[in-house]
Amino acid sequence: MSAIRLIRVLFYGAATQRGATKTQVRRVWSGCSSRSSLCGQEGAQRGLSLTAAASQFELSLTKPPVSGVVSSKLWNDMLEVKFGDGTEGRLPFVWLRDNCQCSQCFSVEGLGRKFLIDDLDVEVQPTKVEESMQGLTVKWSDGHQSEYSTNWLQNRAFTPSSRALHREKYALRKEQWGAEHRIKDFDYNTLMSNERVLLDWLLTMERKGSAMVRNVPQKDVAGQELIEHIAFVKQCHYGPHSPVINRPNSNNVAFTNAKLGLHNDLPAYEHMPGIIFIQCLAQHPGAGGESIVTDGLFAAEELRRKRPEDFKILSSTDMYFWDKGHANYSWEMPEFYKIAKFPVIKVNGNNEVVQIAVSNTTRDSHMDLPPQEVKKYYAAYKRFYIILSANAMTFKMEQGDMMTLDNVRCLHGRESYDADSQRHIETSYLDWDEARCRRRRLQEKFGCFI
Ligand SMILES: [Zn+2]
Repeated sequence: MSAIRLIRVLFYGAATQRGATKTQVRRVWSGCSSRSSLCGQEGAQRGLSLTAAASQFELSLTKPPVSGVVSSKLWNDMLEVKFGDGTEGRLPFVWLRDNCQCSQCFSVEGLGRKFLIDDLDVEVQPTKVEESMQGLTVKWSDGHQSEYSTNWLQNRAFTPSSRALHREKYALRKEQWGAEHRIKDFDYNTLMSNERVLLDWLLTMERKGSAMVRNVPQKDVAGQELIEHIAFVKQCHYGPHSPVINRPNSNNVAFTNAKLGLHNDLPAYEHMPGIIFIQCLAQHPGAGGESIVTDGLFAAEELRRKRPEDFKILSSTDMYFWDKGHANYSWEMPEFYKIAKFPVIKVNGNNEVVQIAVSNTTRDSHMDLPPQEVKKYYAAYKRFYIILSANAMTFKMEQGDMMTLDNVRCLHGRESYDADSQRHIETSYLDWDEARCRRRRLQEKFGCFI
């Protein structure tokens, strides 16, 4: 402790600045909310603790750096810091050294770490710490000196609020829905010409996993210009797009007039396509061809609550998916033979559902299970499918409609239709990485993260 020299700001100065900053920040906050429903809205619909924490942190983020670091002390291989606005954080020494922001350790141009893990001493200790209105200066036991700005530190202070905010930047909290769900409508031209509407669509897709775009122009590739307005079309062995019509000698059960059960597209891909664009170019006029859509996340959570043993089986047992065939069209791969293996319900390290993979057509007949486990697996799978179906909505798309679905979450299917029908649906894909990237860039542009 004796090695630490504390330079404290005058408390009166800090308090005055604090009051002014809060007023200013509140004005920005409410102005943002009233200007657009995209900024800071829907907080009440999300988990309150998360939203409250994130909002609180957002306020601290927008403060000017003059609040500074007012005090720090050593605590269990960490630096306990207090910022000028009263917030606190604990910063592990090893993390601070690893994330030195000097030009020798970090590339400002490349926005990437230059400091090598080879040169990191996990036991590194500070020999001198200085607080200032700008932030922190630390001298290290390895002889290096680092400087960190207040905002940079606050943004990463390992507090529940800073962690919650970054978690939401990574991926927004999903909102489940059942059969009563009303898919949000977007007008194609407005979506293409207004970036705030585009952001609304991106947020809707991330939270609800479903949206409907109306008045879409007829093109070969579903939503091509919209996808390219965001990033680029994700290709697969069916090419950049698939005409879902009753094809002769069809290379997939989907490309027939048969009823299609609820499914996610392309689970035979280890990395399934993120967003599916399903555009109606021509609808079957009579009965048949209706779309069926359901929220796999809602069903998985229902299964977890009501049949935890089934959830455990479906989330811990790998299934095989396969897709083998040859091209129907010139833009398809001449021949393909995909195999992927993962559970029908995929969970992450926090036990959150991150992917649903259901496909009657491409679920493989190979099962990597002892035979005595197979019937139990089928029973669990069937109960999950019953929940998926019970909470599905059915409707009929019309020419010019384009449904957009989170393909690793929502499932879609269709009723059968006449074999000689001219019904024509087009599908194409966009990866989630690209959609989230555009969402973050727009949020940054409009200054309304969370
Ligand atoms: Zn450095």
